[in-house]
Amino acid sequence: MLQSVQIQRPEYVLVVDDQELNRDILGMILGEKYRILYAENGQEAITLIRARANELSAVLLDLMMPVMDGYEVLAAVKADEELKHLPIIVLTADKSAELKALQMGAVDFIAKPFDIPEVILTRVGRIIELSEGRQLISAAEYDRLSMLYTRNFFFEYCNRLHLYHPEQKLDAIVLDIEMFHSINALNGREFGDDVLRTVGDEIRAFLQETFGIASRVEADRFDIYCEQQTDYRTLLRRFQDRLNRYASNVSIHLRMGVAQWQEGTDPVLLFDRARTASGMVRGDFQNPLMIYDEEMRKRELLNQRLLNDLRAAIEERQFEVYYQPKYDIQREPPRLSSAEALIRWQHPELGKISPGVFVPLFEGNGLISILDSYVWTETARQIAEWHRKYQVKLPVSVNLSRADVFDPTLVEHLSRLIQDNGLDYQDIKLEVTESAYTDNAKQLLDVIHSLRKIGFQIEMDDFGAGYSSLNMLSSMPIDVLKMDMKFVRNIEKSEIDLRLVKLILDIAKYLKLNVVAEGVETEGQLSLLRDSGCNLVQGYFFSQPLPAEEFEKLLVREIEIEKGLLNHDAV
Ligand code: C2E
Ligand code: MG
Ligand code: MG
Repeated sequence: MLQSVQIQRPEYVLVVDDQELNRDILGMILGEKYRILYAENGQEAITLIRARANELSAVLLDLMMPVMDGYEVLAAVKADEELKHLPIIVLTADKSAELKALQMGAVDFIAKPFDIPEVILTRVGRIIELSEGRQLISAAEYDRLSMLYTRNFFFEYCNRLHLYHPEQKLDAIVLDIEMFHSINALNGREFGDDVLRTVGDEIRAFLQETFGIASRVEADRFDIYCEQQTDYRTLLRRFQDRLNRYASNVSIHLRMGVAQWQEGTDPVLLFDRARTASGMVRGDFQNPLMIYDEEMRKRELLNQRLLNDLRAAIEERQFEVYYQPKYDIQREPPRLSSAEALIRWQHPELGKISPGVFVPLFEGNGLISILDSYVWTETARQIAEWHRKYQVKLPVSVNLSRADVFDPTLVEHLSRLIQDNGLDYQDIKLEVTESAYTDNAKQLLDVIHSLRKIGFQIEMDDFGAGYSSLNMLSSMPIDVLKMDMKFVRNIEKSEIDLRLVKLILDIAKYLKLNVVAEGVETEGQLSLLRDSGCNLVQGYFFSQPLPAEEFEKLLVREIEIEKGLLNHDAV
């Protein structure tokens, strides 16, 4: 790092200090690479700066001086449009003075007593390089709305604080405004700007009281890098209260994610963590604060590991397809009518991993398509095998992810599977999660239309889990509704939940859609559903998802019932 600074041409550096000894030391050190100008107090400095502005590359400025001190010089330079880009490095022995100087626009500090010469030379060199680069890109240092640093400068300063003050325990805080775009849309941009300004004001007020810097890094996201606080709940309340006072008749919600200082962890990573934490409480108005903890760190490590292991897992066939039966409960005894294929990962070191862990992870980056395709292929092969063995064809549903739907070869891929295995289109049903529909992407609807046209049946998975409204159902290209588990969970205890289930069943009947109730675990739930007219049920009451050999036993029994070889008690 020391070697990385190459100064090609001699440049002027102004050294401002009332102590002759300090001027001499710095002059000696920097004289190797730069031409040096000297000033003994602020007034002399200002005069020189004005006269030689074009030749100056940097100013090293003592803060405590007679006649005019360093703060006044800083203020004067930063207030001057022509001069404000001149990098000023503050010389100080007083830690608490550093922050104030930084807030006033200093780019860096050199601590007294002075460090070894190479360090000083390197630092000054870096700053000059940076400031030249920065004039080139002519990026603004401050965001005009919030009067906080802009993103690039902020991270540059964070990195410097981290690098030069590794002992200082600084936490990363991310403050987000919930649904800011709606606030803008509903109340106008000007109001939105005022909201951002108000948050900026309160952050600056906070930073007067504590060591730290802040930025508005995105439209409605603020990053604060500051001394460890003891009570983040109170801090969040402080920002929220300020907003409430400002906008007393509009409700605006803030949320906060915090990642605490950890030895050696750089600010960029710390802010990634804080953002992860904040993302976890998105929309949670009851509990808008999340502190990044060991558990979340472990989860991130695990995610990373799973991403790395995916390819080997496919090659080594660590994935297995399980089958969970769906029963027709309007028949007596209830009869096996179909199944759902669900993926399982048997990891050689981590053991069984639930799809709840890896499916969302692989959905995030599109890798899920590889797994899905594996499941479809395996399922098609299995249906054909059972058909050969038992001359029955039990339809099996497979799950489709959003990424699959946007794959232009999807329709072709699925039809080939059907043909290659000698199946009919009714043998494989396709489950598409409800939330995919609510994006209402035209492409999704088009693909689903073409899949139905060639004969596939589409099941809407997780219906009611959060997004859809009942009235959009009528225009959706689907054949079956899979009612989300949460509806069934409480029907034995809650009259309202039961009424809701009945309502869904009524509407589905009206729209001529079949309904599968998911997550049925008890006899009580089963009989309420049966009495309400629900046909199909999937859940632990009948069976957990099973490996193919286990599931085959259910199939064999079903065939025996069909032939009248078994009575229903044996089911
Ligand atoms: P899903 O498609 O809604 O599948 C139903 C989930 O509910 C399964 O969880 C099943 O084991 C579980 N379940 C079934 N009956 C009961 C019950 O009575 N009580 C409770 N508590 N749970 C029950 P699983 O297998 O862990 O899968 C979770 C989710 O992962 C699935 O939800 C699906 O969204 C996704 N998934 C699983 N396999 C695949 C796959 O091959 N491809 C894709 N894209 N997603 C998959
Ligand atoms: Mg499903
Ligand atoms: Mg489901």
